[in-house]
Amino acid sequence: MKRVFNFSAGPSMLPLPVLEKAASELVSYGDTGMSVMEMSHRTAAYEAIIGDAQKLLREIMKIPDNYKILFLQGGASTQFAAVPLNLMNGSGKADYIVSGQFSGKAYDEAKKYGDVVIAATSKPDNFTYVPKTDRSSFRPDADYVHICYNNTIFGSKFPYIPDTGDIPLVADMSSCILSEPVDVSKFGMIYAGAQKNVAPAGVTIVIIREDLMGKARPETPTMLDYKIMADNDSMYNTPPCYSIYMAKLVFEWIIELGGLDVMKQMNEKKANLLYDYLDSQSYYTAPVQKESRSVMNVTFVTGDDALDKKFASEAKKVGLDTLAGHRSVGGMRASIYNAMPYEGVEALVAFMKDFAEKYPS
Ligand code: PLP
Repeated sequence: MKRVFNFSAGPSMLPLPVLEKAASELVSYGDTGMSVMEMSHRTAAYEAIIGDAQKLLREIMKIPDNYKILFLQGGASTQFAAVPLNLMNGSGKADYIVSGQFSGKAYDEAKKYGDVVIAATSKPDNFTYVPKTDRSSFRPDADYVHICYNNTIFGSKFPYIPDTGDIPLVADMSSCILSEPVDVSKFGMIYAGAQKNVAPAGVTIVIIREDLMGKARPETPTMLDYKIMADNDSMYNTPPCYSIYMAKLVFEWIIELGGLDVMKQMNEKKANLLYDYLDSQSYYTAPVQKESRSVMNVTFVTGDDALDKKFASEAKKVGLDTLAGHRSVGGMRASIYNAMPYEGVEALVAFMKDFAEKYPS
């Protein structure tokens, strides 16, 4: 069996033990005689799967009791609309920190629904850092403040949790959820598409404080109303059954490894190996300022577009896959999510050294 080190930003690698467990249960799950893919979501067997997934996620992230966990469809991008529809219900104002492409998209979508402003942005500096904010950065009557906690495309992450006072903080954690412990109580809502650290694409996780639900704007589509989804245990309609099952296996894998403290240590060890190498030489440049560096998505360039392209194609030949940067920014990006083994990063650094010697700039 050939498995490459897959540095894709998403969908991305799943832990091998999870894939193997899923393979062993693919055709018949337990004593059901059917695949989870074929199972009605109204059966006891499936209700146990989704119930366990929820329970395990609450345990791993230490999610307080006054927060609901929802398993939704539509990807993180659907949340760009669902957030304003559900939460922009008081003053009709919302403040966005735009620190990358996805927070920009979230801002553009929210503008359709009310008075939305950019409270802070690093756009003029090509998103090479995460802007600093304090309480005075936000309008005191904003219904919520929105951030993207880890910027997948540019390779930056918030080095701090913004202090928004009483204003609920909403965070897109698509590319960093489960990579380290987070204090959920500091957020009104967290959402994440699954296809990086959680499961195959198809399920979107929403973690929301209970008091923020039940006030959706009247035009909110039923499928986007958090209260309706919560009241129906994420089964108002057919949920993304198989992705939720895969998420449950990933949660079990994280618990077996020792939880999010261990995950954080493992991720920092991988990222340090790569950043230490980047800082030790001058052939490659890492554009993101040190304080804002992401542990999940590491971006770097040679400064020569043709060399960058060659880098990705030569790397692929030796089993280091999908290292080209996002199509909008170029360069290279190594996404080193939870499932990327340390050996994958070692192999990447060794390849980077060889490449620099072989193709002097
Ligand atoms: N937000 C972040 C931080 C992302 O990385 C992505 C996708 O890569 C999205 C949102 C969009 O997610 P989806 O494709 O699930 O809509």
